[in-house]
Amino acid sequence: MAYKTVNPYNNELVKTFPNATADEIETALSNGQALYKKWRDEPISDRSKILHRIAALLRENETELAKIATIDMGKLLSESIGEVELCAIIADYYADNGEEMLKPTPISSRNTGDAEILHQSTGVLMMVEPWNFPYYQIMRVFAPNFIVGNPMILKHASNTPASAQAFEKIVSEAGAPVGSLTNLFASYDQVSEIIADPRVQGVALTGSKRGGQSVAQTAGKYLKKNSMELGGSDAFVVLSDADVDQAVNLAWRVRMYNAGQVCTSAKRFIVADNLYDEFLEKLKNNFEKLVPGDPMDENTTIAPMNSKRAKEKLQKQIDTAVENGAKVYYGNQPIDLPGQFIQPTILTDIDKDNPEFYDELFGPVAQVFKVSSDQEAIDLANDSELGLGGIVVSKDAQHGHRVAEKIETGMVFVNSFLVSLPELPFGGVKGSGYGRELSQLGLNAFTNEKLVVTA
Ligand code: NDP
Repeated sequence: MAYKTVNPYNNELVKTFPNATADEIETALSNGQALYKKWRDEPISDRSKILHRIAALLRENETELAKIATIDMGKLLSESIGEVELCAIIADYYADNGEEMLKPTPISSRNTGDAEILHQSTGVLMMVEPWNFPYYQIMRVFAPNFIVGNPMILKHASNTPASAQAFEKIVSEAGAPVGSLTNLFASYDQVSEIIADPRVQGVALTGSKRGGQSVAQTAGKYLKKNSMELGGSDAFVVLSDADVDQAVNLAWRVRMYNAGQVCTSAKRFIVADNLYDEFLEKLKNNFEKLVPGDPMDENTTIAPMNSKRAKEKLQKQIDTAVENGAKVYYGNQPIDLPGQFIQPTILTDIDKDNPEFYDELFGPVAQVFKVSSDQEAIDLANDSELGLGGIVVSKDAQHGHRVAEKIETGMVFVNSFLVSLPELPFGGVKGSGYGRELSQLGLNAFTNEKLVVTA
């Protein structure tokens, strides 16, 4: 069985989950299709009430849900609790604002009639989600599309099946009709079959380039609209007029959150040469203070990685970087615990011909680069196949903004953490994918933008 919970802290096999059957898939599709038709005749306000109940249930069950996520994929319990709260905030936001955001948009036209765009549902969606935020990744697609009236089928990561079930249960307990969100422990082939089914109208995937390419290929073959939220190798640019303490205070947190396994984690630290030595030393001081241990224990400040496979992949990337000339400024020592730990690590001197220069390091490893001008920082930030997010730090916010404008990504934050909020669009450009989730853009990702002209 592919779907299983293995606790990354102690390697215990907690539970296995049976693969989806052909009957379950057919039931999910037919329930979804029936619900799509039913929802077209029902007021949005009915769904808003259910979405508020989902938010309330998430909050009531916060600790229990957080523990499920932490056992599934290893993140600190406090981070899991924060994730559940963020899901509730997203649900409340679309419950409060979704109806207004979906009101028809009038168009001033030279035609004699009244022209308007209706924002209507399109049908069943397939969502494929990753393990790193096992609830939030679902909610980013679920809340807006629930309000729109698009029923959803979920294929979650094979290492977070318990979180997938827990989310589905909350939706059901809140009174959402059958078919609103159906979790299936589907194989890749079954995902392809679902996408090919004429009842499915769209596909949303968050994950790796490899997974995105495969799913997008199937979606393209069957002409299904799709959005791809893929990896990132975000730059964290420290300009020459930055406050080093402010920069470091942001830097170690954004790199270490979720054990560094965030698509929008800053991964490449690009630092002006006048601040480089001080930045490196202070970053190291913060990395040194992190305490590995049981993610359920509040004294632990660095969690294990989500799986043996993920740890082995990252260790191999560090080894390759070092074999090809990178220097370990700090870290890369074994941690004497049974779980999937990587010591927080700082790498410097990564040249362009190093195979890891263009790789996404999806864990607690910072690559630090020295630059001698804003232009060099911008060029280095943009020298990536990926274009998801980024952070710029400067004492002069306008200066930071000017540099942010030149960075080729979907999101840049100046002097701030890169945060995800329901009103802000989330997504990237280049190899980081296409489409946006959340915000008005995410709400309209799978709507029929239908023109109606009344003469
Ligand atoms: P994967 O792409 O392997 O997994 C993500 C999801 O896609 C999982 O549910 C996985 O299933 C599924 N999947 C993968 N291949 C296929 C396929 N051919 N057909 C159907 N489903 C498929 O990603 P990783 O687990 O490796 O996650 C890490 C990557 O994801 C990083 O690159 C990271 O940056 C990116 N990511 C991007 C985010 C964003 O918001 N942009 C957020 C989080 C991660 P299964 O588990 O069964 O393999």
